Amino acid sequence: MEPLLNYINGAFVPPRTGESLDDLNPATGETITTVPKSGELDVEHAVRAANAARTAWAATTLEERIGWLHRIADALEARSEDIARLESLDTGKPVSLARRVDAARSVSNFRFFAEHAATLEAKVFESNGATNHVHRKPVGCVGLITPWNLPLYLLSWKVAPALVMGNTIVAKPSEMTPLTANLLAEVLHELNLPRGVFNLVHGLGPDVGQAMVAHPSVHAISFTGGTATGAIVAKTAAPMFKKLSLELGGKNATVVLEDAPLDTVLDGLVRASFTNAGQVCLCGSRILVHERIKDAFVHGFVERVASLKVGDPTDETTDMGSVISHAHRDKVEGYIRLAMEEGGTVLTGGTSDATPVDDAHPDGAFLRPTVIDGLPIDARCATEEIFGPVVTLHTFQNEDEAVAMANATDYGLAGSVWTGDAERGHRLAQRIDSGIVWVNTWLNRDLRTPFGGVKQSGVGREGGDWSLNFFSELSNVCVQH
Ligand code: NDP
Repeated sequence: MEPLLNYINGAFVPPRTGESLDDLNPATGETITTVPKSGELDVEHAVRAANAARTAWAATTLEERIGWLHRIADALEARSEDIARLESLDTGKPVSLARRVDAARSVSNFRFFAEHAATLEAKVFESNGATNHVHRKPVGCVGLITPWNLPLYLLSWKVAPALVMGNTIVAKPSEMTPLTANLLAEVLHELNLPRGVFNLVHGLGPDVGQAMVAHPSVHAISFTGGTATGAIVAKTAAPMFKKLSLELGGKNATVVLEDAPLDTVLDGLVRASFTNAGQVCLCGSRILVHERIKDAFVHGFVERVASLKVGDPTDETTDMGSVISHAHRDKVEGYIRLAMEEGGTVLTGGTSDATPVDDAHPDGAFLRPTVIDGLPIDARCATEEIFGPVVTLHTFQNEDEAVAMANATDYGLAGSVWTGDAERGHRLAQRIDSGIVWVNTWLNRDLRTPFGGVKQSGVGREGGDWSLNFFSELSNVCVQH
């Protein structure tokens, strides 16, 4: 594949640093292509382009921008198979998953925000003999920083509302997964989006991401990534009073009540634990199960997990591909070893030291889906975000204990409750300190709903009106009659 370039001011350009990084396929260890290792000057170039394009883009009507989003959705849909293939190459996820989740959602993000923005209504308040008119304006040039687990899915989740509200963009994807951000730039270029409206700068977080956050002419930052990085972003942006949206890590609880119909919920529980090799911020990595049904649960769950097909991401029948990198595999395996030191028992899976997971791909960063029992709820493996195919099992005796265990973490992004009584599940869900709780389902998303975390899982909400509010400034004009 041709070396990737940055996309700045309507042109594909090499980085001013003249440096590049290898983009690796984690399932094979092979180099796919190279990606610019950009620096501050490249960010400066992109920020100038975005600011130069601001006035004209902000002057377009909402209807015109909605039209742009529909055209982008159509063009991405026509390239769905390319999106799935590139995402699978970059991340090691099964191409079937990339097609079903990444490609489909990247298209629907643009379509959804086109349709949702069309529902915006003018807000007018009458009082004291005056009329208050609430106006929306773009924030300006916005910086979008995204991680490697769901590359175009998460980038498009930010680009669509930012564009439709009239902002111009500087985006930085993870340098490990740059291919579909490049595809998006190609699509926008072919559609002749006015130059400077969307700019893409590839490179490392501490170079490119940091320069974007620190730049005074980037007026808002929407960041999705780890909690430690989010803290650096917040510290840099706060003294400039930048608008900031932080979507960070999670350590989500999956609560299985004693009345849960195991036969019907076990497949959902496996999905909630191991989709994308557990590398979804919403995956449940701590399973809390009522002690009365523990044995039946373990029997059914472990059997299903052990039968997941791990290996070649290009094989349509593969359930789980590789993790994102060899370094990440080492980190996850370190946690599995730590779990054993902490007194845990591996019920299925484990490290790949003894037997390679996929003989056909000995250089791939594969791991077996792993279930660990017997750890205390405050063990490191039960409280720190592992972000891989590892779940820990814990038992509780009653609802109060389940809630206390679910809340015994610094994170608060998501969770799920599984029960035969949906009303009971709804009541319990409200006691869990997190931004999203599903009852008898998982990753069932209505894009109009608020999305985001509490505690160390982030600040702010995205989705529906919340995204449109983040990417606009509201001002009130009060006219006395
Ligand atoms: P990181 O925090 O390492 O990176 C996220 C992005 O930030 C990358 O583009 C990264 O660049 C960049 N970055 C790194 N350092 C800086 C810096 N100093 N300033 C600005 N940007 C920087 O996260 P991962 O990529 O490892 O993603 C996994 C994490 O993302 C997990 O914690 C997961 O829970 C979280 N996540 C949260 C979601 C949510 O909605 N709450 C959704 C998906 C994931 P580079 O890649 O070059 O380091």
